[in-house]
Amino acid sequence: MTPPSDHTSRSVRLGEVHRWTQTSIPTLREAPAEATTPSHQLLVRGGYIRQVAAGVYSFLPLGLRVLEKISQIVREEMNAAGAAELRMPAFVPIELYAGTKRDEAYGDLLFKLTDRHGRSVALGPTHEETLTDYAKSAVTSYKQLPLTLYQIQTKYRDEFRPRAGLLRGREFVMKDAYSMHTSVEGPGGLNEVYDRLYEAYVRIFERCGLGFTVVEAEAGPIGGSASHEFMVNAATGEDTILICPASGYAANVEKCEIGERPWSIADADAAQPLAEHHTPKMPGIDAVASHLGIEPRGMLKTILFKAGRAGDDPAWVLATVRGDHEVNEGKLRDAVGRSLTLADDAEARAAGFAVGYISPRAATERGCQLVIDPDAATDDAWATGADRVDHHVTGFSWRRDAGVSSASAANLAGVKVADIRNAKAGDPSPKDPASTLEARRGIEVGHIFKLGTIYSEAFDFAILNEQQKKTTVIMGCYGIGVSRTIAASVEQRHDDRGIVWPAPIAPYDVLVVVMDPKKPAHAEAVATITDQLRGAGLDVLVDDRKERPGVKFKDADLIGMPIRLTIGDKALERGMVEFQVRAGSAERQEVPLAAIVEPVLGALGG
Ligand code: ATP
Ligand code: MG
Repeated sequence: MTPPSDHTSRSVRLGEVHRWTQTSIPTLREAPAEATTPSHQLLVRGGYIRQVAAGVYSFLPLGLRVLEKISQIVREEMNAAGAAELRMPAFVPIELYAGTKRDEAYGDLLFKLTDRHGRSVALGPTHEETLTDYAKSAVTSYKQLPLTLYQIQTKYRDEFRPRAGLLRGREFVMKDAYSMHTSVEGPGGLNEVYDRLYEAYVRIFERCGLGFTVVEAEAGPIGGSASHEFMVNAATGEDTILICPASGYAANVEKCEIGERPWSIADADAAQPLAEHHTPKMPGIDAVASHLGIEPRGMLKTILFKAGRAGDDPAWVLATVRGDHEVNEGKLRDAVGRSLTLADDAEARAAGFAVGYISPRAATERGCQLVIDPDAATDDAWATGADRVDHHVTGFSWRRDAGVSSASAANLAGVKVADIRNAKAGDPSPKDPASTLEARRGIEVGHIFKLGTIYSEAFDFAILNEQQKKTTVIMGCYGIGVSRTIAASVEQRHDDRGIVWPAPIAPYDVLVVVMDPKKPAHAEAVATITDQLRGAGLDVLVDDRKERPGVKFKDADLIGMPIRLTIGDKALERGMVEFQVRAGSAERQEVPLAAIVEPVLGALGG
């Protein structure tokens, strides 16, 4: 007897065929009132998800299929990049945070519970600690490195404002990966694996059929451009990204550099006198500016920071930007060359600062560090705080009123002019002097990071290197918001009728709408079609409900499968079925019932 030759059948994945009446797709005419973004509305209306609590959703059968399709793409590309999958529990004993203090850093974002023995437990918002704790016990020699481990798993974050359905949930699915190395450079080093995973991410989001932009993000502790975010382009996105169309440079607001901005403060007398104004009960620059009859850009905004570690004697740092600009903490930190935190109001008041009314004078008079953004370093007669509660001044001159000029800024010990503000559209590009930055909106679906040794140091995760010397392991971490990617796709691809899935992540490739499921001829046609499609590895949903055609077509558009085949009497008499592509405005056409695979594959591939 010859054994059954299953090697051929194993290499072809058979498609799945499901019937609408045997699954649960609770489509709705109206979106729930709290759903305001397209993806939230359409995923609920299309029967993909249902809310259980704020920011907590059930994935219904259709939603779960999308989640699984994205997960599978992620898995294949991570495996191809040399990573191995594992699964860690959501349950994180609070002791694991002892070395990193991230339970404190996360604060209320961390879900915490107490077990019956009074032990404190967190629900993991991410898993650096659990992973490092494990790896420390299992990886002891350089011969085991590099090693990249990942999981696709449920995360918990008690977001202050869960919003937009799957975009910002309190329970969500993330792919988190961690790489371990003995070196940054060279074969097997952090840089090499980081670049490989960067490429894997590009393939993942390309395979998902999404339009996206990779942006430079706030640099990691190693410095350089050690962090990238993957942003799905969508007008409804929460994040602002800036791009230079000429050079292709793209960065998020926290990171984006600004090109050269000329500035100068003359060593000459001011044209306008300094005048003080009573400005009580005016919250914010806009209110003060409008009271003074000027634009916010005519004001100086001075923000107080504290340098050094908590507990140290405070070293005050003042940052001055134009009233319509925002101080960028990362840039300020780089300009000052040490770590900073926003000053505590009460502490600043106790130290004699008129919080809310501070002018740059407060720095020069006390001899504290002052950093001025180039756009604020000009001879204009500025409006600014009066260093006196409820008062502002107009006619402020850098030289006359704070003793700062171009020459002195270069020499005065504590005074410096540097790029310390967030970039915005219209700013000069840092990569091409002839070009300006443009702003776009995006949804962060992935974030990769060169961690360095923060976690390995906290866990004393060290190994013996080739020279038998103990070295601290260098790490990288790599996240993908798997459930957020579902919503991001819908934000990017929908129309007024419903969702338009990219084929690779659609729950089914084809929706077969049967006009009259009871009719033998229709049932036979369903079998003919599904047999062919299944054999070609395509997934098919058959709408076999006893519903009016109008209802079925509306639902078909709403749930958004890439291709719809309609079985109706007229076409069937001619051996044909109606064929329609969901995306674009393609006309309906008829295709032969007996040769359905080719047109379907053609449309899915295109
Ligand atoms: P965000 O800035 O959007 O709050 P994050 O930078 O805190 O996200 P990471 O810690 O980098 O997020 O997590 C990795 C990925 O997990 C993110 O890129 C994002 O796609 C996803 N993610 C983070 N928070 C949520 C959430 N509350 N709901 C859904 N997905 C999330
Ligand atoms: Mg992030």
